[in-house]
Amino acid sequence: MSDRSPGASAPGLRRAVTRPAVREETAMPDHRRLGRELDLFDTDPLLGAGLPYWLPAGATVRHALEEYVRDVERRAGYQHVCSPVLGKRELYELSGHWAHYRADMFPPMDLGGEQVVLRPSLCPHHAVIYRSRAHSYRELPLRLAELGGMYRSELSGVLGGLTRVRAIQLNDAHVFCAPDQVADEVLAALELIRGAYRAMGITPARYRLSLPGPGGKYVAGAERWRRSTALLTEALRRSGLPFEAAAGEAAFYGPKIDVQVADAAGREATLSTVQVDFHQPERFDLRYVGADGARHRPVMVHRSIVGSVERAVAQLVEEHGGAFPPWLAPVQLVVLPVSAAEAAPAATLVRRATGLGLRAEVVGPGHGSLGSRVRAARLVPYLAVIGAAEAAAELVAPRLRGGRRLDPLPGGAFLARIAGLVDAHRAELWDEDAR
Ligand SMILES: [Zn+2]
Repeated sequence: MSDRSPGASAPGLRRAVTRPAVREETAMPDHRRLGRELDLFDTDPLLGAGLPYWLPAGATVRHALEEYVRDVERRAGYQHVCSPVLGKRELYELSGHWAHYRADMFPPMDLGGEQVVLRPSLCPHHAVIYRSRAHSYRELPLRLAELGGMYRSELSGVLGGLTRVRAIQLNDAHVFCAPDQVADEVLAALELIRGAYRAMGITPARYRLSLPGPGGKYVAGAERWRRSTALLTEALRRSGLPFEAAAGEAAFYGPKIDVQVADAAGREATLSTVQVDFHQPERFDLRYVGADGARHRPVMVHRSIVGSVERAVAQLVEEHGGAFPPWLAPVQLVVLPVSAAEAAPAATLVRRATGLGLRAEVVGPGHGSLGSRVRAARLVPYLAVIGAAEAAAELVAPRLRGGRRLDPLPGGAFLARIAGLVDAHRAELWDEDAR
């Protein structure tokens, strides 16, 4: 934090050019440099590598994304649960993580004769939650979702980034369903992912069918692997999405569809994923009562729409260079009174915008000429200029990010158009057909 210039007082308006060049920053991947320049997130050696913290502007982006995800999940029939970020070692022995994934887990903590572990995934907790109640086939598919913390003992956790972190907030869900419901659930999850990428303005690099490879890191059961691979392949074919198969990329308990994105340097990473799992339902002895009155084993479909919020925001920062889609922008509207004489209508407009749930602020003439204020707000999606003529006519002169000017219109009409686009999570700045 020590090398940060005071900059302008308004969040989102601080400019890199006012800061002295720091040598090591030139080698930084894009999202790390932008994350610091835009006051989104940072790290501190005292907190430790791979443990970023979120500044107010970054937390705003993150919360907007989390709210979007929860809303989309509710509408798609998911129920949200909450579970702790720790569990007894025996839980992960049962799930198979201890045998197949221990290298990525934090060492256990000794506590009163037992050992607890920072969880490496949410799956075991959700399996336990499912198991805690009896279930009938009528409840299936039962979709449990959680935006929850998980931990990875990333030895190379780097300072300053969001992509290799030790503490992860994961958008996760597990669909417990009958075998003949799996393909539909996978297809529906792919639809949610496609919708989210549209809203975020992110283009996947490719869809990957991740299969097991040689080596002992996968659970046994050739028939289960064959069935789950066939179900994922069927869903991919029905989706019409182009995909490539890759050996050695499966989860230890089953194959998966990975949605790959590329970072600023062209390196690929997995953001979203859909997995079919016959293994953990068996390990946890999960059951439901079928129409025949007998007990049956459900299948677990693991799916993440946006992956971890850390990686998703890193991708958003890099993909948009900080010029986020309006619904994600830390500040969505900056109101620019040309002179002090327009201070009152500017303040009124910000109050009305805030009342509509928009993130808006006034940047007055004290911050410089109109031109310099417009340049400082270059990443803000919407500007409303109010000069003497606009104030007299009770209008605003709107400008869109990128410089496009619209004809003056009443402030309320401008705000309604913005709120409509934000509420619909549209990636574009303006809807030409809206009224
Ligand atoms: Zn899972």
